[in-house]
Amino acid sequence: MQNSQNKQVEPSGSFLLGLIQMPYKPLRPCLQPGCPELVSKGYCDKHKKDKEYDRRRGTANQRGYTYRWQKYSRHFLSRPDNVFCKLQLLGCTNLAECVDHIVPPDGPDDPRFWDPANHQAACIHCNSVKGRRAQKGTAMPFEAMCRG
Ligand SMILES: [Zn+2]
Ligand SMILES: [Zn+2]
Repeated sequence: MQNSQNKQVEPSGSFLLGLIQMPYKPLRPCLQPGCPELVSKGYCDKHKKDKEYDRRRGTANQRGYTYRWQKYSRHFLSRPDNVFCKLQLLGCTNLAECVDHIVPPDGPDDPRFWDPANHQAACIHCNSVKGRRAQKGTAMPFEAMCRG
């Protein structure tokens, strides 16, 4: 019984009000695309765990691939000497679409992240191939660098 908390003067009125104000949460599908699970908000239990994992690991933004980076990438790739992929790995599409870190930085606080001398134009293919090769525990989301 939580009547002590009830400030309504008329008992019958408050009873009705209580019914109407029952927290009603319409169910909607989990925010994870393709997941059929119905939840009151956000993600289902399974995907909530996935998201928590992501949060602990850090999102692409936390790893430095922010709007600022996207703007920088666009500027970098608009330079005439950065039109073509510098990596030229097997299967290269030749056209530079993202900025590759020559030496992969440890994170956004690593000076190598923003050091122009550490940047080169790369196509998405080469960038992701190089990224897969470089993956060692603290894998950087190399695809994320290509967006924008
Ligand atoms: Zn889900
Ligand atoms: Zn390439």
